[in-house]
Amino acid sequence: MDLLAHALWAGVAGESLRRRGRLGPRGVAAVVALAVLPDLMQGLPVAAWTLAPHGDPGLLWDFARATPADEPALPPAVQAVAHHLHCIGHSAVVAGAVTLVARAARWRHAWVLAGWWLHIVIDVFTHSAEFYPVPVLYPLTQRGFDGLAWNTPVFQAVNYTLLALAGAWLWHTRRRPPAGSGR
Ligand SMILES: [Zn+2]
Repeated sequence: MDLLAHALWAGVAGESLRRRGRLGPRGVAAVVALAVLPDLMQGLPVAAWTLAPHGDPGLLWDFARATPADEPALPPAVQAVAHHLHCIGHSAVVAGAVTLVARAARWRHAWVLAGWWLHIVIDVFTHSAEFYPVPVLYPLTQRGFDGLAWNTPVFQAVNYTLLALAGAWLWHTRRRPPAGSGR
């Protein structure tokens, strides 16, 4: 799914968790950050290489908006690091291990990991075999599930309509100060 939609769905989830007392406002921001990070991490080695003195900054833009058919050519090492960072960020195996460690360590902010999980679950079902299938079981396998690709006008229209409805629901159910409490 696109980065903005990931952030907005994470905002909906984070706000719902905040209302249940699981998170504070900064926790909601962390949920949103963790929900966009899996798609940004892979750009770090590409950014480092393209912004280096010999690099071509235009390649970073080409990389960011690439489809499987027109990916820019990158040095094999940069390509490999970007690929494995993408796999790590989209792996339920890795996220599960991190969550277990967080639980074992009784990390009291562990609910922020919901943002990461939300990204993985959404992407598993919104990427098709032709459009970057999500390596959800990495490092056990890099095969992905053949879901419904998000990059079609119909999917985008439905997705953003649902986001608008979710935002309206949050607004409608927000906690108002009791009547007569204002001065
Ligand atoms: Zn993703």
